[in-house]
Amino acid sequence: MAAHDKVRAKKSLGQHFLHDEGIARKITEGLQLSKEAIHVLEIGPGMGVLTKYLIQNPLIDLKVIEIDRDSVAYLKKHYPALDNRIHEGDFLDIDLYTVFEGKFSIIGNFPYNISSQIFFRVLEQRNRVDQVVCMLQKEVADRIAAKHGNKTYGILSVLLQTFYNIESLMKVPPGVFTPPPKVMSAVIRLVRNERSHLPCDEKLFVTVVKTGFNQRRKTLRNALKNLTLSSDVVALPVLDKRAEQLSVEDFIQLTQVIEKSRAGQHGV
Ligand code: SAH
Repeated sequence: MAAHDKVRAKKSLGQHFLHDEGIARKITEGLQLSKEAIHVLEIGPGMGVLTKYLIQNPLIDLKVIEIDRDSVAYLKKHYPALDNRIHEGDFLDIDLYTVFEGKFSIIGNFPYNISSQIFFRVLEQRNRVDQVVCMLQKEVADRIAAKHGNKTYGILSVLLQTFYNIESLMKVPPGVFTPPPKVMSAVIRLVRNERSHLPCDEKLFVTVVKTGFNQRRKTLRNALKNLTLSSDVVALPVLDKRAEQLSVEDFIQLTQVIEKSRAGQHGV
């Protein structure tokens, strides 16, 4: 391919093109395949460095979504086989049922500026999204995979770990991208766990997690003040802790207790 025909990287779209073929192939091998083809959506294929390995695998039924018109034109020209598999648009906006009707997995070297928003979409669709294999800023990858008791453990760690098992696959230095990002990158894999639904009110669970971490330095007793907890809940020893000290299970149990006390108050 002629150099002049390459896509010029746009900062606003978080474009850093990977040029190390060995790493690209390894990332695509991070997807766990089965005997029958799995549906896979690649987010932000750019010039197709991952796409070319994915599309040649008969065990992968691939679709891609790319927001950048220049990249879409490049992909159509260089990978004719992709033609009716390209969605030009914004992953954060697209109706994912128009891409796949049933379950699917996600892969991509994510645009780092929107990686958290991508994960909130994954959470919305968690009963359809079996796996996510992605490259992102190492700091964000570490945060997502962090266990309780760790300073970087936060809202996304709890919510994602509630429904996914998370593994780090590799670290990736800036020099293998054009242009190089300012930060280290990492590849992680999320695989849907067995938890089909929460044994507590899910909205309340999310509220407790978010509210707890909003003032993460405070004890939960203080951080959760706005939730107007009943006095028996306020007295619980677990409220002496800070949000970052609670495991997923602890958050579920706390939500159950709050839920019960509220039901009691309303005479249910
Ligand atoms: N996969 C390529 C490009 C990674 S850069 C590679 O590894 O080289 C991130 C890619 O995501 C870019 O191609 C960018 O255009 C695309 N992108 C950015 N925001 C997007 C969005 N909201 N929806 C879909 N694609 C997006």
